[in-house]
Amino acid sequence: MTSSVFADERLLFTPATPTSDAIPTIFAFPNEYTVGITSLGYQVVWASLAMRTDVQVSRLFTDIQEPLPREPELLGFSLSWELDYVNILNILESLDIPIRTSERTNNHPLVFGGGPVLTANPEPFAEFFDVILLGDGEDLLGNFIAAYKQVRNAERKTKLTALAQVPGIYIPSLYHVEYHELDGAIASIQPISPDIPPVVQKQTYRGNVLSASTVVTQRAAWENIYMVEVVRSCPEMCRFCLASYLTLPFRTASIENSLIPAIERGLKVTNRLGLLGASVTQHPEFAELLNYINQSQYDDVRLSIASVRTNTVTQELAHTLAQRGTRSLTIAVESGSEKVRQIINKKLHNHEIIQAAANAKAGGLTGLKLYGMVGIPGEEAEDLDATVTMMKDVKKAAPGLRLTLGCSTFVPKSHTPFQWFGVNKQAQKQLQFLQKKLKPQGIDFRPESYNWSIIQALLSRGDRRLSKLLELTRHFGDSLGSYKRAFKELKGKIPSLDFYVHTNWETDMILPWNHLQGPLPQSTLLKHLADATQVSQKSKVKSQKSRRLV
Ligand code: SF4
Repeated sequence: MTSSVFADERLLFTPATPTSDAIPTIFAFPNEYTVGITSLGYQVVWASLAMRTDVQVSRLFTDIQEPLPREPELLGFSLSWELDYVNILNILESLDIPIRTSERTNNHPLVFGGGPVLTANPEPFAEFFDVILLGDGEDLLGNFIAAYKQVRNAERKTKLTALAQVPGIYIPSLYHVEYHELDGAIASIQPISPDIPPVVQKQTYRGNVLSASTVVTQRAAWENIYMVEVVRSCPEMCRFCLASYLTLPFRTASIENSLIPAIERGLKVTNRLGLLGASVTQHPEFAELLNYINQSQYDDVRLSIASVRTNTVTQELAHTLAQRGTRSLTIAVESGSEKVRQIINKKLHNHEIIQAAANAKAGGLTGLKLYGMVGIPGEEAEDLDATVTMMKDVKKAAPGLRLTLGCSTFVPKSHTPFQWFGVNKQAQKQLQFLQKKLKPQGIDFRPESYNWSIIQALLSRGDRRLSKLLELTRHFGDSLGSYKRAFKELKGKIPSLDFYVHTNWETDMILPWNHLQGPLPQSTLLKHLADATQVSQKSKVKSQKSRRLV
Protein backbone atom coordinates (compact mmCIF):
# COMPACT_ATOMS: atom_id res chain seq x y z
CA MET A 1 0.00 0.00 0.00
CA THR A 2 2.74 2.46 1.03
CA SER A 3 4.82 1.86 -2.05
CA SER A 4 1.82 2.19 -4.35
CA VAL A 5 0.90 5.54 -2.78
CA PHE A 6 4.36 6.94 -3.42
CA ALA A 7 4.48 5.28 -6.85
CA ASP A 8 1.34 7.20 -7.82
CA GLU A 9 3.13 10.52 -7.42
CA ARG A 10 4.17 12.56 -10.41
CA LEU A 11 7.14 14.64 -9.35
CA LEU A 12 7.77 18.05 -10.86
CA PHE A 13 11.36 18.21 -9.68
CA THR A 14 14.36 15.96 -9.84
CA PRO A 15 15.47 14.61 -6.46
CA ALA A 16 19.22 14.61 -5.91
CA THR A 17 21.29 11.61 -4.98
CA PRO A 18 22.47 12.27 -1.44
CA THR A 19 26.18 11.96 -0.67
CA SER A 20 27.35 9.34 1.81
CA ASP A 21 27.61 11.86 4.63
CA ALA A 22 24.27 13.56 3.91
CA ILE A 23 22.26 14.55 7.00
CA PRO A 24 19.72 11.81 7.78
CA THR A 25 16.44 13.71 8.10
CA ILE A 26 12.79 12.88 8.61
CA PHE A 27 10.29 15.45 7.38
CA ALA A 28 6.86 14.72 8.81
CA PHE A 29 3.36 15.98 8.31
CA PRO A 30 1.33 15.28 11.47
CA ASN A 31 -1.73 13.99 9.66
CA GLU A 32 -2.59 11.45 6.96
CA TYR A 33 -0.86 11.42 3.58
CA THR A 34 -3.97 12.70 1.78
CA VAL A 35 -3.99 15.83 3.93
CA GLY A 36 -0.23 16.37 4.06
CA ILE A 37 0.40 16.02 0.35
CA THR A 38 -2.30 18.63 -0.32
CA SER A 39 -0.33 21.19 1.68
CA LEU A 40 1.67 23.33 -0.72
CA GLY A 41 4.01 24.36 2.12
CA TYR A 42 4.82 20.73 2.97
CA GLN A 43 5.37 19.83 -0.68
CA VAL A 44 7.73 22.73 -1.26
CA VAL A 45 9.87 22.19 1.84
CA TRP A 46 10.11 18.47 1.17
CA ALA A 47 11.20 19.10 -2.44
CA SER A 48 13.79 21.68 -1.31
CA LEU A 49 15.28 19.09 1.04
CA ALA A 50 15.07 16.30 -1.53
CA MET A 51 16.91 18.40 -4.13
CA ARG A 52 19.95 18.75 -1.85
CA THR A 53 22.82 16.31 -1.97
CA ASP A 54 23.74 17.07 1.65
CA VAL A 55 20.39 15.92 3.05
CA GLN A 56 18.90 12.43 2.96
CA VAL A 57 15.21 13.07 3.58
CA SER A 58 12.40 10.58 4.27
CA ARG A 59 8.76 11.54 4.54
CA LEU A 60 6.53 10.48 7.38
CA PHE A 61 2.73 10.82 7.65
CA THR A 62 0.48 9.36 10.32
CA ASP A 63 -0.63 6.54 8.01
CA ILE A 64 2.34 5.88 5.75
CA GLN A 65 6.04 6.60 5.59
CA GLU A 66 9.11 6.17 3.46
CA PRO A 67 11.91 3.98 4.87
CA LEU A 68 13.24 6.02 7.80
CA PRO A 69 16.89 6.51 8.76
CA ARG A 70 17.88 4.54 11.85
CA GLU A 71 19.56 7.50 13.47
CA PRO A 72 17.98 10.69 12.16
CA GLU A 73 19.79 13.92 13.00
CA LEU A 74 16.89 16.18 12.12
CA LEU A 75 13.17 15.58 12.52
CA GLY A 76 10.96 18.29 11.02
CA PHE A 77 7.23 18.94 11.21
CA SER A 78 5.06 21.22 9.14
CA LEU A 79 2.11 22.26 11.30
CA SER A 80 -0.90 23.71 9.44
CA TRP A 81 -3.69 22.81 11.84
CA GLU A 82 -3.44 23.43 15.60
CA LEU A 83 -4.97 20.17 16.80
CA ASP A 84 -2.48 18.13 14.81
CA TYR A 85 -0.12 18.75 17.75
CA VAL A 86 -1.57 15.52 19.19
CA ASN A 87 -0.14 13.62 16.22
CA ILE A 88 3.24 15.32 16.70
CA LEU A 89 3.41 13.99 20.25
CA ASN A 90 2.33 10.53 19.06
CA ILE A 91 4.96 10.50 16.31
CA LEU A 92 7.69 11.54 18.76
CA GLU A 93 6.73 8.71 21.09
CA SER A 94 6.59 6.19 18.27
CA LEU A 95 10.15 7.17 17.32
CA ASP A 96 11.31 6.88 20.96
CA ILE A 97 12.01 10.59 21.20
CA PRO A 98 11.00 12.37 24.44
CA ILE A 99 8.17 14.78 23.76
CA ARG A 100 9.80 17.59 25.71
CA THR A 101 12.92 19.32 24.50
CA SER A 102 14.28 19.40 28.08
CA GLU A 103 14.40 15.59 28.19
CA ARG A 104 16.24 15.09 24.90
CA THR A 105 19.95 14.28 24.83
CA ASN A 106 22.79 14.27 22.30
CA ASN A 107 21.46 10.94 21.05
CA HIS A 108 18.19 12.42 19.89
CA PRO A 109 17.59 14.34 16.66
CA LEU A 110 16.88 18.04 16.69
CA VAL A 111 13.12 18.43 16.40
CA PHE A 112 12.28 21.42 14.22
CA GLY A 113 8.98 22.87 13.08
CA GLY A 114 7.54 25.49 10.80
CA GLY A 115 4.33 26.42 9.03
CA PRO A 116 1.51 28.86 9.67
CA VAL A 117 0.50 27.71 13.16
CA LEU A 118 4.01 27.91 14.58
CA THR A 119 4.81 31.18 12.85
CA ALA A 120 1.68 32.80 14.31
CA ASN A 121 2.24 31.75 17.92
CA PRO A 122 4.61 28.90 18.72
CA GLU A 123 4.41 29.35 22.49
CA PRO A 124 1.82 26.69 23.44
CA PHE A 125 4.01 24.18 21.56
CA ALA A 126 7.35 25.69 22.66
CA GLU A 127 8.33 22.85 24.98
CA PHE A 128 7.92 20.21 22.26
CA PHE A 129 10.29 21.79 19.71
CA ASP A 130 14.06 22.30 19.79
CA VAL A 131 13.99 24.66 16.82
CA ILE A 132 11.21 26.70 15.24
CA LEU A 133 11.58 28.38 11.86
CA LEU A 134 9.65 31.63 11.76
CA GLY A 135 8.43 32.96 8.45
CA ASP A 136 8.91 32.22 4.78
CA GLY A 137 10.93 29.07 4.13
CA GLU A 138 12.62 30.17 0.89
CA ASP A 139 15.88 31.45 2.42
CA LEU A 140 15.33 30.28 5.98
CA LEU A 141 15.46 26.56 5.28
CA GLY A 142 18.78 26.79 3.44
CA ASN A 143 20.24 29.01 6.16
CA PHE A 144 19.10 26.50 8.79
CA ILE A 145 20.79 23.56 7.02
CA ALA A 146 23.96 25.58 6.38
CA ALA A 147 24.20 26.61 10.06
CA TYR A 148 23.45 23.07 11.22
CA LYS A 149 26.28 21.67 9.10
CA GLN A 150 28.75 23.95 10.90
CA VAL A 151 27.87 22.44 14.29
CA ARG A 152 26.75 18.99 13.25
CA ASN A 153 29.16 17.16 15.54
CA ALA A 154 28.87 19.50 18.52
CA GLU A 155 26.98 19.01 21.78
CA ARG A 156 23.25 19.66 21.68
CA LYS A 157 23.50 22.92 23.64
CA THR A 158 26.25 24.25 21.34
CA LYS A 159 24.19 23.36 18.29
CA LEU A 160 21.14 25.21 19.61
CA THR A 161 23.14 28.28 20.63
CA ALA A 162 24.70 28.47 17.17
CA LEU A 163 21.37 28.04 15.40
CA ALA A 164 19.84 30.81 17.53
CA GLN A 165 22.16 33.29 15.77
CA VAL A 166 20.48 32.70 12.41
CA PRO A 167 17.75 35.28 11.66
CA GLY A 168 14.31 33.69 11.92
CA ILE A 169 15.46 30.64 13.91
CA TYR A 170 13.79 30.53 17.30
CA ILE A 171 15.06 28.20 20.01
CA PRO A 172 12.36 28.32 22.71
CA SER A 173 14.52 26.68 25.39
CA LEU A 174 16.99 29.57 25.21
CA TYR A 175 14.36 32.04 26.51
CA HIS A 176 13.26 32.26 30.10
CA VAL A 177 9.71 33.37 30.88
CA GLU A 178 8.78 34.75 34.31
CA TYR A 179 5.23 35.21 35.57
CA HIS A 180 3.77 37.58 38.16
CA GLU A 181 2.03 34.57 39.71
CA LEU A 182 1.93 30.93 38.66
CA ASP A 183 -1.53 31.58 37.25
CA GLY A 184 -0.93 35.24 36.43
CA ALA A 185 0.29 37.32 33.50
CA ILE A 186 3.81 37.23 32.06
CA ALA A 187 6.33 39.42 33.92
CA SER A 188 9.24 39.10 31.48
CA ILE A 189 10.68 37.10 28.59
CA GLN A 190 14.49 37.13 28.42
CA PRO A 191 17.14 35.15 26.57
CA ILE A 192 19.00 32.91 29.03
CA SER A 193 22.38 34.38 28.05
CA PRO A 194 23.69 37.58 26.44
CA ASP A 195 24.79 35.76 23.27
CA ILE A 196 21.17 34.91 22.38
CA PRO A 197 19.25 37.61 20.46
CA PRO A 198 16.48 39.15 22.64
CA VAL A 199 14.08 39.31 19.68
CA VAL A 200 13.65 36.87 16.78
CA GLN A 201 12.52 38.44 13.53
CA LYS A 202 10.09 36.51 11.36
CA GLN A 203 11.67 36.15 7.88
CA THR A 204 10.16 37.62 4.74
CA TYR A 205 10.99 36.40 1.25
CA ARG A 206 11.08 39.26 -1.25
CA GLY A 207 11.43 37.49 -4.60
CA ASN A 208 8.76 37.49 -7.30
CA VAL A 209 8.86 33.75 -7.96
CA LEU A 210 6.36 32.15 -5.60
CA SER A 211 5.62 28.50 -4.89
CA ALA A 212 4.04 25.85 -7.05
CA SER A 213 3.31 22.17 -6.53
CA THR A 214 6.27 19.85 -6.60
CA VAL A 215 4.11 16.75 -6.76
CA VAL A 216 0.74 15.85 -8.26
CA THR A 217 -1.19 12.79 -7.15
CA GLN A 218 -4.66 11.33 -7.34
CA ARG A 219 -4.38 10.59 -3.62
CA ALA A 220 -4.39 14.28 -2.64
CA ALA A 221 -7.49 15.61 -0.90
CA TRP A 222 -8.08 17.60 -4.08
CA GLU A 223 -7.44 14.83 -6.52
CA ASN A 224 -4.62 15.55 -8.99
CA ILE A 225 -4.54 19.23 -8.13
CA TYR A 226 -1.59 21.33 -9.26
CA MET A 227 -1.29 24.37 -7.03
CA VAL A 228 0.24 27.69 -7.95
CA GLU A 229 0.75 30.50 -5.45
CA VAL A 230 -0.38 33.68 -7.16
CA VAL A 231 0.01 36.14 -4.28
CA ARG A 232 1.37 36.06 -0.76
CA SER A 233 -0.36 38.01 2.03
CA CYS A 234 -3.20 40.45 1.43
CA PRO A 235 -2.97 44.24 1.24
CA GLU A 236 -6.44 44.80 2.72
CA MET A 237 -5.41 44.54 6.37
CA CYS A 238 -8.78 43.64 7.88
CA ARG A 239 -7.91 44.07 11.53
CA PHE A 240 -8.62 40.51 12.68
CA CYS A 241 -6.87 38.83 9.78
CA LEU A 242 -3.80 36.72 10.38
CA ALA A 243 -3.49 35.84 6.68
CA SER A 244 -2.76 39.50 6.04
CA TYR A 245 -0.88 40.84 9.08
CA LEU A 246 1.37 37.85 9.71
CA THR A 247 2.64 37.65 6.16
CA LEU A 248 2.86 41.28 5.02
CA PRO A 249 3.99 42.81 2.74
CA PHE A 250 1.66 41.79 -0.08
CA ARG A 251 3.72 40.10 -2.78
CA THR A 252 2.70 39.04 -6.24
CA ALA A 253 4.19 36.37 -8.48
CA SER A 254 5.58 37.59 -11.77
CA ILE A 255 3.41 36.47 -14.66
CA GLU A 256 6.38 35.78 -16.98
CA ASN A 257 8.93 34.40 -14.54
CA SER A 258 6.71 32.57 -12.10
CA LEU A 259 3.08 31.96 -13.02
CA ILE A 260 3.17 31.05 -16.71
CA PRO A 261 6.21 28.72 -16.48
CA ALA A 262 4.69 27.07 -13.40
CA ILE A 263 1.28 26.60 -15.00
CA GLU A 264 2.86 25.19 -18.18
CA ARG A 265 4.86 22.72 -16.12
CA GLY A 266 1.86 21.59 -14.09
CA LEU A 267 -0.64 21.31 -16.91
CA LYS A 268 1.64 18.80 -18.64
CA VAL A 269 0.77 16.27 -15.91
CA THR A 270 -2.78 17.20 -14.87
CA ASN A 271 -5.73 19.28 -15.97
CA ARG A 272 -6.69 20.44 -12.51
CA LEU A 273 -5.32 23.83 -11.54
CA GLY A 274 -5.66 25.60 -8.20
CA LEU A 275 -4.71 29.26 -7.85
CA LEU A 276 -3.66 29.90 -4.24
CA GLY A 277 -3.18 32.92 -2.03
CA ALA A 278 -5.06 35.02 0.51
CA SER A 279 -6.45 37.33 -2.16
CA VAL A 280 -5.79 35.81 -5.57
CA THR A 281 -7.94 38.16 -7.61
CA GLN A 282 -6.00 41.13 -6.28
CA HIS A 283 -2.98 40.22 -8.36
CA PRO A 284 -2.52 43.39 -10.46
CA GLU A 285 -2.37 41.33 -13.64
CA PHE A 286 -5.09 38.89 -12.74
CA ALA A 287 -7.06 39.66 -15.93
CA GLU A 288 -4.01 38.70 -18.02
CA LEU A 289 -3.61 35.51 -16.04
CA LEU A 290 -7.23 34.66 -16.69
CA ASN A 291 -6.78 35.37 -20.41
CA TYR A 292 -3.79 33.08 -20.47
CA ILE A 293 -5.76 30.25 -18.86
CA ASN A 294 -8.64 30.93 -21.23
CA GLN A 295 -6.58 29.84 -24.29
CA SER A 296 -8.18 27.03 -26.26
CA GLN A 297 -5.30 24.62 -25.52
CA TYR A 298 -6.47 24.67 -21.90
CA ASP A 299 -10.12 24.07 -22.67
CA ASP A 300 -10.28 20.95 -20.55
CA VAL A 301 -8.60 22.54 -17.52
CA ARG A 302 -10.61 22.60 -14.32
CA LEU A 303 -9.86 25.71 -12.35
CA SER A 304 -10.29 26.50 -8.66
CA ILE A 305 -9.48 29.83 -7.07
CA ALA A 306 -8.74 29.90 -3.35
CA SER A 307 -10.02 33.36 -2.53
CA VAL A 308 -11.93 35.90 -4.48
CA ARG A 309 -12.38 39.43 -3.25
CA THR A 310 -16.04 40.40 -3.43
CA ASN A 311 -15.60 43.46 -5.62
CA THR A 312 -13.55 41.49 -8.14
CA VAL A 313 -16.39 39.09 -8.95
CA THR A 314 -17.10 40.18 -12.51
CA GLN A 315 -19.43 38.39 -14.86
CA GLU A 316 -16.37 37.40 -16.90
CA LEU A 317 -14.68 35.76 -13.91
CA ALA A 318 -17.88 33.93 -13.01
CA HIS A 319 -18.21 32.77 -16.61
CA THR A 320 -14.62 31.48 -16.76
CA LEU A 321 -15.08 29.59 -13.52
CA ALA A 322 -18.44 28.16 -14.59
CA GLN A 323 -16.89 26.98 -17.88
CA ARG A 324 -14.09 25.28 -15.97
CA GLY A 325 -16.01 23.12 -13.56
CA THR A 326 -16.69 25.53 -10.69
CA ARG A 327 -20.33 25.79 -9.70
CA SER A 328 -20.16 27.98 -6.66
CA LEU A 329 -18.00 30.81 -5.39
CA THR A 330 -17.09 31.83 -1.84
CA ILE A 331 -16.64 35.46 -0.85
CA ALA A 332 -15.83 36.80 2.62
CA VAL A 333 -18.09 39.68 3.58
CA GLU A 334 -17.74 39.38 7.38
CA SER A 335 -20.95 41.31 8.18
CA GLY A 336 -23.91 43.04 6.62
CA SER A 337 -23.26 46.10 8.77
CA GLU A 338 -21.30 48.94 7.21
CA LYS A 339 -20.24 50.03 10.70
CA VAL A 340 -18.79 46.64 11.60
CA ARG A 341 -16.91 46.55 8.33
CA GLN A 342 -15.47 49.94 9.16
CA ILE A 343 -14.39 48.68 12.57
CA ILE A 344 -12.53 45.79 10.99
CA ASN A 345 -11.20 47.89 8.10
CA LYS A 346 -12.98 45.86 5.44
CA LYS A 347 -13.35 48.19 2.50
CA LEU A 348 -16.53 46.75 1.11
CA HIS A 349 -20.13 47.95 0.73
CA ASN A 350 -23.43 46.12 0.59
CA HIS A 351 -24.11 47.25 -2.97
CA GLU A 352 -20.85 45.57 -4.04
CA ILE A 353 -21.94 42.32 -2.41
CA ILE A 354 -25.27 42.49 -4.19
CA GLN A 355 -23.52 43.22 -7.49
CA ALA A 356 -21.18 40.26 -6.95
CA ALA A 357 -24.19 37.97 -6.49
CA ALA A 358 -25.83 39.32 -9.65
CA ASN A 359 -22.57 38.86 -11.60
CA ALA A 360 -22.11 35.33 -10.27
CA LYS A 361 -25.55 34.40 -11.48
CA ALA A 362 -25.23 36.16 -14.84
CA GLY A 363 -21.88 34.41 -15.40
CA GLY A 364 -23.49 31.02 -14.99
CA LEU A 365 -22.59 30.02 -11.45
CA THR A 366 -25.33 28.26 -9.53
CA GLY A 367 -24.29 28.99 -5.96
CA LEU A 368 -22.71 31.69 -3.84
CA LYS A 369 -21.34 31.21 -0.37
CA LEU A 370 -20.83 34.28 1.75
CA TYR A 371 -18.58 34.11 4.73
CA GLY A 372 -19.37 36.09 7.84
CA MET A 373 -18.33 36.43 11.42
CA VAL A 374 -20.07 37.20 14.71
CA GLY A 375 -18.64 38.52 17.96
CA ILE A 376 -16.58 41.22 16.29
CA PRO A 377 -15.56 43.81 18.91
CA GLY A 378 -18.02 46.72 18.80
CA GLU A 379 -20.79 44.68 17.15
CA GLU A 380 -24.31 45.34 18.48
CA ALA A 381 -27.75 43.79 18.01
CA GLU A 382 -28.60 46.09 15.11
CA ASP A 383 -25.49 44.91 13.26
CA LEU A 384 -26.83 41.37 13.23
CA ASP A 385 -30.14 42.71 11.91
CA ALA A 386 -28.14 44.41 9.17
CA THR A 387 -26.60 41.05 8.21
CA VAL A 388 -30.06 39.50 7.94
CA THR A 389 -31.28 42.40 5.78
CA MET A 390 -28.25 42.18 3.55
CA MET A 391 -28.75 38.45 2.99
CA LYS A 392 -32.38 39.07 2.03
CA ASP A 393 -31.29 41.78 -0.40
CA VAL A 394 -28.71 39.49 -1.98
CA LYS A 395 -31.35 36.83 -2.43
CA LYS A 396 -33.69 39.29 -4.07
CA ALA A 397 -30.96 40.53 -6.45
CA ALA A 398 -30.01 37.05 -7.64
CA PRO A 399 -33.09 34.85 -7.45
CA GLY A 400 -32.41 31.19 -8.03
CA LEU A 401 -28.76 31.43 -6.95
CA ARG A 402 -28.16 28.95 -4.13
CA LEU A 403 -27.22 31.16 -1.21
CA THR A 404 -25.22 30.07 1.83
CA LEU A 405 -23.90 32.06 4.76
CA GLY A 406 -20.99 30.36 6.51
CA CYS A 407 -20.34 32.05 9.81
CA SER A 408 -17.54 31.84 12.33
CA THR A 409 -16.91 33.50 15.66
CA PHE A 410 -14.27 36.21 15.96
CA VAL A 411 -11.05 34.66 17.32
CA PRO A 412 -8.16 36.95 18.34
CA LYS A 413 -4.94 36.24 16.47
CA SER A 414 -1.40 37.21 17.43
CA HIS A 415 0.32 40.00 15.47
CA THR A 416 -3.04 41.54 14.46
CA PRO A 417 -4.57 44.77 15.86
CA PHE A 418 -7.32 42.66 17.46
CA GLN A 419 -4.91 40.41 19.38
CA TRP A 420 -5.89 42.14 22.63
CA PHE A 421 -9.64 41.39 22.36
CA GLY A 422 -11.19 38.29 23.90
CA VAL A 423 -13.86 36.07 22.35
CA ASN A 424 -17.35 37.45 22.90
CA LYS A 425 -19.31 35.11 25.16
CA GLN A 426 -22.53 36.09 23.36
CA ALA A 427 -21.24 34.75 20.06
CA GLN A 428 -23.02 31.42 20.33
CA LYS A 429 -26.35 33.18 20.87
CA GLN A 430 -25.60 35.44 17.92
CA LEU A 431 -25.04 32.40 15.71
CA GLN A 432 -28.37 30.98 16.88
CA PHE A 433 -30.08 34.29 16.13
CA LEU A 434 -28.82 34.30 12.54
CA GLN A 435 -29.86 30.67 12.14
CA LYS A 436 -33.37 31.48 13.28
CA LYS A 437 -33.73 34.49 11.00
CA LEU A 438 -32.16 33.11 7.84
CA LYS A 439 -33.57 29.61 7.66
CA PRO A 440 -37.16 30.73 6.91
CA GLN A 441 -35.74 32.86 4.06
CA GLY A 442 -34.42 29.75 2.31
CA ILE A 443 -30.84 30.77 3.04
CA ASP A 444 -28.57 27.95 4.07
CA PHE A 445 -26.84 29.03 7.28
CA ARG A 446 -23.70 27.11 8.26
CA PRO A 447 -22.25 28.18 11.58
CA GLU A 448 -18.75 27.10 12.53
CA SER A 449 -18.58 25.40 15.91
CA TYR A 450 -18.39 27.96 18.72
CA ASN A 451 -16.53 25.46 20.89
CA TRP A 452 -13.91 25.05 18.20
CA SER A 453 -13.49 28.84 18.14
CA ILE A 454 -12.78 28.74 21.88
CA ILE A 455 -10.06 26.12 21.39
CA GLN A 456 -8.60 28.14 18.52
CA ALA A 457 -8.52 31.26 20.67
CA LEU A 458 -6.83 29.39 23.49
CA LEU A 459 -4.04 28.17 21.23
CA SER A 460 -3.85 31.45 19.41
CA ARG A 461 -3.22 33.50 22.59
CA GLY A 462 -1.61 30.77 24.68
CA ASP A 463 1.78 30.92 26.37
CA ARG A 464 4.20 28.09 27.04
CA ARG A 465 2.45 27.08 30.25
CA LEU A 466 -0.13 25.48 27.95
CA SER A 467 2.33 22.74 26.98
CA LYS A 468 1.37 20.95 30.21
CA LEU A 469 -2.30 21.40 29.42
CA LEU A 470 -1.87 20.08 25.88
CA GLU A 471 -0.11 16.98 27.16
CA LEU A 472 -2.99 16.29 29.50
CA THR A 473 -5.74 17.10 27.01
CA ARG A 474 -4.51 14.72 24.36
CA HIS A 475 -5.40 11.82 26.62
CA PHE A 476 -8.87 13.23 27.26
CA GLY A 477 -9.91 13.84 23.61
CA ASP A 478 -10.20 16.96 21.51
CA SER A 479 -13.54 18.36 22.70
CA LEU A 480 -13.83 21.62 24.61
CA GLY A 481 -14.89 19.51 27.63
CA SER A 482 -11.46 17.85 27.57
CA TYR A 483 -9.72 21.21 27.70
CA LYS A 484 -11.95 22.31 30.56
CA ARG A 485 -11.15 19.10 32.43
CA ALA A 486 -7.42 19.71 31.99
CA PHE A 487 -7.82 23.33 33.20
CA LYS A 488 -9.52 21.97 36.32
CA GLU A 489 -6.63 19.60 36.99
CA LEU A 490 -4.10 22.40 36.61
CA LYS A 491 -6.06 24.98 38.60
CA GLY A 492 -3.72 27.37 40.42
CA LYS A 493 -0.76 26.29 38.26
CA ILE A 494 -1.76 28.06 35.05
CA PRO A 495 -4.20 30.92 34.26
CA SER A 496 -7.84 30.11 33.59
CA LEU A 497 -9.46 29.38 30.23
CA ASP A 498 -11.29 32.67 30.65
CA PHE A 499 -8.02 34.60 30.87
CA TYR A 500 -6.67 33.19 27.62
CA VAL A 501 -9.90 33.17 25.63
CA HIS A 502 -12.41 35.77 26.80
CA THR A 503 -10.51 38.51 28.66
CA ASN A 504 -9.74 41.75 26.85
CA TRP A 505 -6.01 42.11 27.49
CA GLU A 506 -4.45 45.45 28.44
CA THR A 507 -2.31 46.83 25.64
CA ASP A 508 0.70 47.24 27.95
CA MET A 509 0.64 43.56 28.86
CA ILE A 510 3.63 41.43 27.90
CA LEU A 511 2.28 39.15 25.21
CA PRO A 512 3.45 35.53 24.97
CA TRP A 513 4.98 36.37 21.56
CA ASN A 514 6.59 39.65 22.67
CA HIS A 515 10.06 38.37 21.76
CA LEU A 516 8.96 37.28 18.27
CA GLN A 517 8.74 40.17 15.84
CA GLY A 518 6.10 40.04 13.11
CA PRO A 519 6.08 42.26 10.02
CA LEU A 520 4.64 45.36 11.71
CA PRO A 521 5.76 47.21 14.83
CA GLN A 522 3.42 47.23 17.82
CA SER A 523 2.80 50.97 17.28
CA THR A 524 1.11 50.27 13.93
CA LEU A 525 -1.11 47.60 15.47
CA LEU A 526 -2.05 50.02 18.26
CA LYS A 527 -2.91 52.73 15.74
CA HIS A 528 -5.28 50.33 13.97
CA LEU A 529 -6.78 49.34 17.30
CA ALA A 530 -7.37 53.00 18.18
CA ASP A 531 -9.02 53.64 14.80
CA ALA A 532 -11.32 50.64 15.27
CA THR A 533 -12.26 51.71 18.80
CA GLN A 534 -13.01 55.22 17.59
CA VAL A 535 -15.46 53.97 14.94
CA SER A 536 -17.25 51.84 17.50
CA GLN A 537 -17.43 54.64 20.08
CA LYS A 538 -18.70 57.18 17.55
CA SER A 539 -21.45 54.82 16.52
CA LYS A 540 -22.44 54.18 20.14
CA VAL A 541 -22.79 57.92 20.80
CA LYS A 542 -24.82 58.31 17.59
CA SER A 543 -27.23 55.52 18.48
CA GLN A 544 -27.63 56.85 22.05
CA LYS A 545 -28.51 60.27 20.62
CA SER A 546 -31.03 58.85 18.18
CA ARG A 547 -32.62 56.76 20.95
CA ARG A 548 -33.00 59.93 23.04
CA LEU A 549 -34.69 61.68 20.11
CA VAL A 550 -37.16 58.80 19.84
S1 SF4 B 1 -9.63 40.75 2.44
FE1 SF4 B 1 -9.65 38.69 3.38
S2 SF4 B 1 -7.51 38.00 3.32
FE2 SF4 B 1 -7.52 40.20 2.96
S3 SF4 B 1 -7.18 41.11 4.98
FE3 SF4 B 1 -9.38 41.02 4.64
S4 SF4 B 1 -10.03 39.07 5.54
FE4 SF4 B 1 -7.80 38.98 5.28
